[in-house]
Amino acid sequence: MQPSAVVKAQITPAERFQMYVDGQWVSAEGDRTFEVRNPADRTVAGIVPDGGIPETRRAIESAHRAFPAWSRTPAKDRGVILKGIMELMAERRDEIAKLVVLENGKPYEEAKGEVGFSMGYFGWFAEEARRIYGDVVSSPFANKRLWVLRQPLGVVGAITPWNFPANMITRKIAPAMAAGCTVVLKPASATPLTALAIARCGHDAGLPAGVLNIVTAAKSGAVGDELLRNPHVKKIGFTGSTQVGKGLMKQAADQIKRISFELGGNAPFIVFDDADFDKALEGAIAMKFLRVGGQSCICANRIFVQETIAERFITAFVERTKALKVGPGFEAGMQVGPLINEEALRSMQHFVEDATSRGARVLTGGRRYTSPPLDKGFFFEPTVLVDVNDNMPVCVEEIFGPIAPILIFKTEEEVLRRANATSYGLAAYFYTRDYARIARVSEGLEAGLVGINDAQGYTHEIPFGGFKESGLGREGGREGIEEYLEVKSLVVNLG
Ligand code: NAP
Repeated sequence: MQPSAVVKAQITPAERFQMYVDGQWVSAEGDRTFEVRNPADRTVAGIVPDGGIPETRRAIESAHRAFPAWSRTPAKDRGVILKGIMELMAERRDEIAKLVVLENGKPYEEAKGEVGFSMGYFGWFAEEARRIYGDVVSSPFANKRLWVLRQPLGVVGAITPWNFPANMITRKIAPAMAAGCTVVLKPASATPLTALAIARCGHDAGLPAGVLNIVTAAKSGAVGDELLRNPHVKKIGFTGSTQVGKGLMKQAADQIKRISFELGGNAPFIVFDDADFDKALEGAIAMKFLRVGGQSCICANRIFVQETIAERFITAFVERTKALKVGPGFEAGMQVGPLINEEALRSMQHFVEDATSRGARVLTGGRRYTSPPLDKGFFFEPTVLVDVNDNMPVCVEEIFGPIAPILIFKTEEEVLRRANATSYGLAAYFYTRDYARIARVSEGLEAGLVGINDAQGYTHEIPFGGFKESGLGREGGREGIEEYLEVKSLVVNLG
């Protein structure tokens, strides 16, 4: 869908925001603040409170106080409030999408799509709340009854990244609150504005004070440490890099704190020679470039093409890549926005320089934009690399940007082995028309999400999460709510 005109951000530049603690809109102690920058031009998009340990403690205490009443509220009634949040997000969809563009940079239509999808988690989990079942288990003793309950965990600490500023939040807070837990969320420092707009919907929909708290912070360490150390917090739900996840897991060990982690990926995208060529091409372009410009955990990281069609595929892929419209997200028709920051730009430059120094060739792209107006932001050219091998950093590491390394394979067995030769296991894609191969390859791929002739990603109804170092636990589906429940067994002695 193409917008017909340039969309104007209606946010006043450098507007001041407050964070959301104990049902109140508050500043940080000493009125400390930090600036959120628009990655398309580096201007100040908003000024938000710079929270730390005291604010996090207050938020945890509030969530702890709110837990008994919220957890005893009938699931159906919790669901009514969650549906109310969804309805308010629908009414405010354009406004929230503008915040997403302002702080994240993605094209406006993509941002609207994200907000539309993200609010669906409130709808899905409002309904799932009513399906939290227990069990009556057949007892081996005549005088005893065995019952199994599922109960909410308590206060949840949630930490989210910047690449989907709306969706990463609702995918956590909707199941947590549906289960009867209360939440303290720390959004990414790059994208706190969307989080605050979602909290505003929660407030206006009638969430009781303390059920949802948002602590914004320029530096994540202090907030993260408090969430991990505070004994009131029973679980950490984290989405972000594998590296940070490993550190949090070590800290969580001290209190055997429950964790669920959605971490990095290195998705293979495999095109067999019997595939529908045009659909595979379209899927590869979409999964490489059209999700936050390649800054998505489920993006195609390595594109494997069967030798017999490689030349034709590469030619067509390069042509499509050159035609992509790169620019600020508020401009009509843009398909690829900026990277999130200077560090990400440097990382892309490094991947290209490293690969070419080892023999790879750049067929298009390969550089940051240095002419106006894109030089003001963090824009990198959509890039295609060939003559790459599996051991180059661009294939081993998560790229997280608009670089497409294309690798060539001969046989199914070979590509399956190479696709799985990574410590990650989040997503994988393959295109073929052979049904027997669909069964073999989908069973053989080591990934939590496998797209077969499909590059749309996941939906609310299915569980999403990683194998190997891509994560622990699942979000979405009926499994999503289980992550926020403890199982309690009751042994009733009837005498
Ligand atoms: P990140 O650097 O790991 O940060 C993620 C979140 O953790 C941010 O809120 C960050 O705060 C916070 N954080 C960083 N260090 C911390 C610490 N020591 N203690 C507590 N919190 C800490 O990741 P990112 O760059 O934002 O996001 C990109 C990564 O997320 C990629 O690896 C991507 O694959 C992954 N991701 C995975 C999924 C999935 O579903 N599996 C979805 C989206 C993204 P600051 O913002 O203040 O640094």
